[in-house]
Amino acid sequence: MCKGTCFWCHQDNGLIWKMEGAHLNPNPTPKNAVFDYDPCAQCADVFDKGIAAIRVHTEETAPDYMKEEWAPYQKDPLCWPTGEIVLITDEYFKRAEVREVIGSAIADEIIEDRCAIIPFNDWTDMGLDRALEKLRG
Ligand SMILES: [Zn+2]
Repeated sequence: MCKGTCFWCHQDNGLIWKMEGAHLNPNPTPKNAVFDYDPCAQCADVFDKGIAAIRVHTEETAPDYMKEEWAPYQKDPLCWPTGEIVLITDEYFKRAEVREVIGSAIADEIIEDRCAIIPFNDWTDMGLDRALEKLRG
């Protein structure tokens, strides 16, 4: 038996996976695992307060090792998550300097969808690097 863990906060999310035939497998069953990217109830409450922005490498900015190792898992459009994920307010996507980088139509779409996949260089151009540096002190 393996307990599910929330990808976002690493807490138990109540899912349980019972491995059929586990007794035949020489490797021990893991005690905890991430089964999906669905936020747990607590994380879903946090996500409701903002827009999840995920920084990704695109074809041009992805390191070669990512292109090779992750190729079988790629879908269109090609993107490789960098691991940088932040929650942003609606007001941020209404700022002129942000809309100049990504375009007003896309900014409105992001506000509607509540999720943004941000290409590596756009993340920097939007000022997210500087904003995060300020938060970190
Ligand atoms: Zn969670």
